[in-house]
Amino acid sequence: MAEKKEGRIRIEAGKQMKKLMADHFYELDEAARTGKRKVAWCTSVGPAELLRGMGFLVYFPENHGAVLGATRAAMDYIPVANAAGYSPEICSYLTSDWGAFLKGETPLSKIYKGIESVPKADVLVYNTNQCRDVKDWLACYAREWKVPLIGVETYRGVGEVTGTHVEGIAYQIEELVPTLEEVSGEKLDMDRLKEAVRLSRECSELWKKVLDTAQAVPAPITFFDGTIHMGPAVVARGTQEAVDYYNLLLPELEKRVEGGVQAVPDERYRLYWEGMPIWGKLREFSTQFFELKTNVVASTYCNSWIFTALDPDDPFRSMARAYIELFIVRDDRQKEKYITKMMEDFKCDGIIFHDAKTCPNNSNSRYGMPQRLAAETGMRTLTIDGDLNDMRCVSDEQVQTQIEAFVEQLAEVTA
Ligand code: SF4
Repeated sequence: MAEKKEGRIRIEAGKQMKKLMADHFYELDEAARTGKRKVAWCTSVGPAELLRGMGFLVYFPENHGAVLGATRAAMDYIPVANAAGYSPEICSYLTSDWGAFLKGETPLSKIYKGIESVPKADVLVYNTNQCRDVKDWLACYAREWKVPLIGVETYRGVGEVTGTHVEGIAYQIEELVPTLEEVSGEKLDMDRLKEAVRLSRECSELWKKVLDTAQAVPAPITFFDGTIHMGPAVVARGTQEAVDYYNLLLPELEKRVEGGVQAVPDERYRLYWEGMPIWGKLREFSTQFFELKTNVVASTYCNSWIFTALDPDDPFRSMARAYIELFIVRDDRQKEKYITKMMEDFKCDGIIFHDAKTCPNNSNSRYGMPQRLAAETGMRTLTIDGDLNDMRCVSDEQVQTQIEAFVEQLAEVTA
């Protein structure tokens, strides 16, 4: 029988996920300290498969940013980066992470005994498909450690993805290989690369199935569960461990669906979350929705680590396609089509747009999208102001009042 925590049913597979995450950080820590394996830093939707396929251990600074946010340590470090000249207006993952580095601290030390710092990189690899901040962020470390900074300068605001887009990005990914070979001291082994791409694809498919279990009414998981269980899809895609994890989690959730187990008991309303999580307030908002018997069943964010275009028989072009087809890279028309379909598939009653102060790239409410979607589809929308890590930008009271009023409105509409 699954254990209950504060009225919520604990996901049993979570224990295995904690182990996977711990192994990930300890392995990186050892590699960086001993030099036994090379460490590559990679932006979260960058070409991780290539790095794994070339034998690197891969570290994702945005994952560290999320840990800084979720543990609320970010607020100790953002001012440090601000004082060093990094504006409070830029990505608060960047400022909290770089501030922590300048202070010589990391929340990983509190979670994983013996880890004293983030793992030093041998090479830093970015993809600007999500924003320019990631390149500027890794540039801080490139200057500090004097290691190569390489990456992909991608298209943004893409409508239909064309062969020209794919060829251009595939070429840039291939161009990374000589530097990576130089750093790793090994030649690219195509079979190993294909295997990493195959595993990443398998991980993506399983992660999609996990998220899609929330199409069931009532849903067996929430967006807030998703922000935790996406860990392996982010940090371990391209490995057997990530595949094994989702092969464990998926049947548990399917069993919940079969048994009618509800993540939010007496689920009355179903919402879609558009934008970044508010990492420092996940618990508060998850509790509020729980008490309002409202489940946030789907999000753009958790679905951003689904790369089903990956094809082991065509690794470079398929990586290029997978990293261009992403939501964040697309124009508003494509984004609106995507959200409309998600709202239908997950049978949502409304959508919450999070306008994150320091991340314009994941804030889609600034150019009239909520209004257009409401006019075209009749969907109910709410825009809340906040931020991913900088809690100075989040007014709990204001947002909670807005959410409460929004759910009341849904009650009136559906009455
Ligand atoms: S997409 Fe947003 S949150 Fe992510 S690194 Fe870029 S600015 Fe930061």
